Parts: sequence; C-alpha cells; structure tokens
Amino acid sequence: MPKIKIGSHVKMAGKEMFLGSVKEAESYGANVLMLYTGAPQNTVRKEIEALNIEAGWEYAKKAGIEEIVVHAPYIINLGNTVKPETFELGVAFLEKEIKRTAAMGSRILVLHPGSHVGAGIEAGIGQIIKGLNRALDENEDDVYIALETMAGKGSEMGSAFEELRMIYDGVHKRDRLRVCFDTCHVNDAGYALVEDYEGVLQQFDKAIGLEQIAAIHVNDSMNPCGSHKDRHANIGEGCIGFAVLKRIVHDERFARVPKILETPWICAEGSNEKTIPPYKEEIAMLLE
Ligand code: FE
Ligand code: FE
Ligand code: ZN
Repeated sequence: MPKIKIGSHVKMAGKEMFLGSVKEAESYGANVLMLYTGAPQNTVRKEIEALNIEAGWEYAKKAGIEEIVVHAPYIINLGNTVKPETFELGVAFLEKEIKRTAAMGSRILVLHPGSHVGAGIEAGIGQIIKGLNRALDENEDDVYIALETMAGKGSEMGSAFEELRMIYDGVHKRDRLRVCFDTCHVNDAGYALVEDYEGVLQQFDKAIGLEQIAAIHVNDSMNPCGSHKDRHANIGEGCIGFAVLKRIVHDERFARVPKILETPWICAEGSNEKTIPPYKEEIAMLLE
C-alpha cells in the first residue's frame, strides 16, 4: 500500500512565507499540507514573488513533502445574486487565486461553493456556475477547483451532494472540477457517516463519483449529524469519533488523496488561549 498522504492546514506568514509553512508541516510529521495564500477572511495578498516558493519547495523535497493544497478565502461568494459587487469581487479574486495556486506548485484549489443569501438555491447555484465559467473558460492552468462539501450553515450551498452535482452539470469545463470532502461538514449536513459510512460514500458515488474526491478534510464535529453548525472538534473528541475518521484516512479508495486536518488548536493548562497545535499527535494517532 502506498504511503498515506496526511497533513494539516498550516500558516503562511512572516518573512519565510511558504518556507515557514513547509517547516511547520514537517514539525507535525506531515507529508502534505494545506495553506491559504493570505488571511482566509480577506483578499489582501502578497505578490507571488514574495511567497518564497522556490526555497519552500527545496526544503519540502528534503522533508518528504510532495504535495500541497491551496484553500481560497471564505469571503469569495460566487453564489451571491443580491450584491453584484460581491460576485464580481469573487470572480476576479478566484481568477488570480488560480494563478497563485499554479505558481505555488499546487494542483488543487479548495473553494467553498457559496451562499445564496436569501435568493434561494436555484438562483444561487446558477450564479456559482456563472462565476466558475467566467473563471475557467479562458484559463489553461493545471489546477483543479475542488468544491468543498459544506455543513449547510446559513444559506450555504453544497451541503447536499446533489447541489454539487448541479454545479458540475452547469460548468463548461467540468473536467477542471473536483470535490473536497470535509467529514465534519458531511456529518453536519445530515449524512450518517457514523452509522452508515459505506452508505454515505455510495450516495456520493451515485451523485458525483468517488473518483472526484481530490482532498479530504479530516475533522471531528462538535455537533450531531444534521446540525448544520460547522464547528470542528479534535480527532476522536466529537460526534464522529476516532473509528470513522481513521477508517476514511486508511480507505484504499482514497490512497492518492491528500487528507488535511483542520481541527482546533488546544489551550495550555489553565489558559483559555488556543496556542498548541494538535496536529503532530493527531496525525500519529490516525496513522497507527
Ligand atoms: Fe473549507
Ligand atoms: Fe474544510
Ligand atoms: Zn468547516
């Protein structure tokens, strides 16, 4: 069996930028990593030249890190039909983010499909399709957009596999689409991962195809199935539990798929500030 690809999201900041991200991943015993090209909540981005990409990859090769995933900021909302500026900003940012992802040597850009902000699912999905076509029609980069399965918080779309299917069906270059399967979100969306792991994967396979899964976010959930909350818990400490999360990490059908932890940092004893990353221990646990 090939080596399991597992890591976590890491920071990219300071002077070292990507080199720092790689060092952080190495400290967790990871062989893949995910990063945001800047703050996840905003669209302020450094020039590609300032990301320290070459030095990062040189270090990565020696550290055994061969693959990286990029996550687009959450404020991109291609599903917004209510505020045209928000949609336009999202498309423009996505176009640049595809370029940055390619420049970083990543083939996978994870994207939250979007929220319809009250306009309804049909309008929202139509707008997402329009935005993806705008970003992809003229683009030739070797980068997939991996639509993330969402928890269904607020007016988020993409919590039902069929909604992702609808997006695929409308996008001209659907061979440029993939899915990022987030275990916390799938649980919160109402799929019974715990009681019926195989059944959920079968449902996914029927709607989209398991081979479309290009990244897996391995998170426990603070809330029960169907809660639509999206609050990640540490591995084995939430409503999904260790067994199911270990099962997906070791599932041979996903052997070539990077598994990324986005579990919360931990507070030191007697403090309520989250200062300790859990990833080294959680990765080791999941690989046992
Ligand atoms: Fe995400
Ligand atoms: Fe996620
Ligand atoms: Zn989440």
